[in-house]
Amino acid sequence: MIQLHDKIFTPYLNETEIQQAVASVAEKIAADYKDETPIFVGVLNGSFMFVSDFLKAYQHPCEVSFVKLSSYQGLTSTGIVETLLDLPANLEGRSVIILEDIIDTGRTLQQLVHLFSKTNVKEFKIASLFYKPDVYKGEYTIDYFGLAIPDNFIVGYGLDYNELGRNLKEVYQLNQKHMINLVLFGKPGAGKGTQAEFLKEKYNLKHISTGDVFRYNIKNGTELGTLAKSYIDKGELVPDEVTIKMLQEEVEKNSQADGFIFDGFPRTAAQAEALDNFLESKDMAINATIALEANDEVLIERLLERGKVSGRSDDQDVSKIRNRFDEYNIKTTPVKEFYEAQGKFYSVNGIGTIAEITERLTKVIEEIK
Ligand code: AMP
Repeated sequence: MIQLHDKIFTPYLNETEIQQAVASVAEKIAADYKDETPIFVGVLNGSFMFVSDFLKAYQHPCEVSFVKLSSYQGLTSTGIVETLLDLPANLEGRSVIILEDIIDTGRTLQQLVHLFSKTNVKEFKIASLFYKPDVYKGEYTIDYFGLAIPDNFIVGYGLDYNELGRNLKEVYQLNQKHMINLVLFGKPGAGKGTQAEFLKEKYNLKHISTGDVFRYNIKNGTELGTLAKSYIDKGELVPDEVTIKMLQEEVEKNSQADGFIFDGFPRTAAQAEALDNFLESKDMAINATIALEANDEVLIERLLERGKVSGRSDDQDVSKIRNRFDEYNIKTTPVKEFYEAQGKFYSVNGIGTIAEITERLTKVIEEIK
């Protein structure tokens, strides 16, 4: 076992296993490219050890270079990928093979594909030492990979946890047993967002508010945002299929969190079931579902106040608010029953000062920890 920053990691792959994976990538590429001189482009920082060992295993004519992308996720408003270390110059007509240490959701890969789409390369291929097929969401097929691995957070052999662990000769995985995963439950205006802010600080949790993620997407004019907007504007629920997929992506993007606060999710029994199955596949589980209770008239007052400040259209109209309460009552009652049946449902009085309510929540969490 090793510790990096605040987290414990356990051994996952030894040096022999890593070198076998490296050699298998080199062999596959050699079979296709040994008769020409490809340019290998390593993606910094994580790939440096892989590139080094890969080249020792690839004893055919080749060139090597590196790129480094900025940590900015996605494209800038101008559609330009920000690079800290740019592509080699003379790529025209050449076969380029990207060397990545790991491909998980595929966001970096998407940036790379975009970057190379503007060059006149002859061919563009992707090779990755590790590949997480369960979480990969990209359209681009991974041409070569050494080892398909489950969705655990790994460090070592070039991969880091907040910059530590890159120099480890072996690969370690995050020990996930001590996670706290909470569902915060309550009608709109019950104070879920406010309380989640406190809890996430105190327990180092990642707060996922599906409503916030939808609003972020609407603001940025994404496809998901456009789809969600038509439902949200009417105070209706976004279809389960869309919401569940989005939620899973949010969890996968944060595989190093100490736990999650799910806020606004699950709202239907189908979502609750999907969440259980999804978490189980990652060796995780919900520890507690906590409902913040307050009566409708208090909540309507709070929401109308919030609507004045936030400008949220669904907070400014009493009939839309009541529609959201009705939705909550009809669709969410089965969710409550779902967690009650598992003995995980806790009810907390949501009326009082913010600090009083935080204390009530903390008491429940300390009980289940
Ligand atoms: P909230 O900020 O949680 O009140 O969510 C605002 C709106 O986003 C809701 O009225 C729904 O239209 C949509 N939404 C948020 N979470 C979900 C969910 N789990 N399932 C379906 N729709 C959701």
